[in-house]
Order: sequence, then structure tokens, then C-alpha cells
Amino acid sequence: MIESGKCQCGDISYSFDRDNLISAHHCYCSDCQRSTGSGKATILFVAKKHIEMQGTPKFYEVKGSSGSHVRRGFCENCGSGVLSYAKEIPHIQYIKAGTLNDSSWIKVDSNFFTDSAHDWNKPDESIKSFKGNPSIISNIKTLFKSF
Ligand SMILES: [Zn+2]
Ligand SMILES: [Zn+2]
Repeated sequence: MIESGKCQCGDISYSFDRDNLISAHHCYCSDCQRSTGSGKATILFVAKKHIEMQGTPKFYEVKGSSGSHVRRGFCENCGSGVLSYAKEIPHIQYIKAGTLNDSSWIKVDSNFFTDSAHDWNKPDESIKSFKGNPSIISNIKTLFKSF
């Protein structure tokens, strides 16, 4: 099943096969809060080679807590954050779930950085929750080293 999404103005759009979704996460880190202007970002891990992109996002690079560099991609025209990735693991992209045309099928696997979550946007602790940086990132790095 092909899923698609876009920024608000449509200059940037993408599609990928639902079967290629690796995992879905809520990230409560302060960078995600600031860049989304909300309590968390909901991100979908998909291998870059499985994403069909139309248009070119502009990237703003920030240093992540683990020392990695997160490049946050957004539409230069309308400002919507569409996807991001760690410079050190560029073959896995983090698509912002809210940019999907239909996100009703998403099941969130875990929470990242619950330590910086706010009372007004409490994490659902019934799913796996990491207080800080999830080791899943480095696990994925190992997993996809061969790409
Ligand atoms: Zn746009
Ligand atoms: Zn985050």
C-alpha cells in the first residue's frame, strides 16, 4: 500500500510503501518541541531508498544529545517540517507523521526523551518509553551498516 504526504503548500511531497515502515515514535526532546512548536514530534523511520521524494527540502542542522547531527528538513516556501535524519545515519529518514495524507494507520512503537515531556503533553507510558536518547538509533545504525 503506497502512502503519500506533503508539506502545506505542496512544493515537497513524498511517497513510500507502508510495508517499508521500520517503526514509529513520539519524540519529546526539546529540539523536536521547538521545531514543531508542540509537545512532541511523531516520526516514522523509513529507509531513504524506499522514499520517493518530489521537491527539495531545506535543512537546518542541530547537534543532537548523543553527539550526532540531526538535519531537520522543511519546505522553504511554507515552513512545514517534512522529514529529518541524523547526518551519521543518512540512509534512515524520519518522516513527520503529521505530513501524511492519511496517517490513520500509524501505530506508535515507543516514546523517546520522555524526561523532557511536559505535563500538558504527557507520554503514553503503556508503550515502550526511553527517558532519553533511545539506543534504538545505534541499533539501527548497526543493522543498516551494510547499506
Ligand atoms: Zn511547502
Ligand atoms: Zn526529538
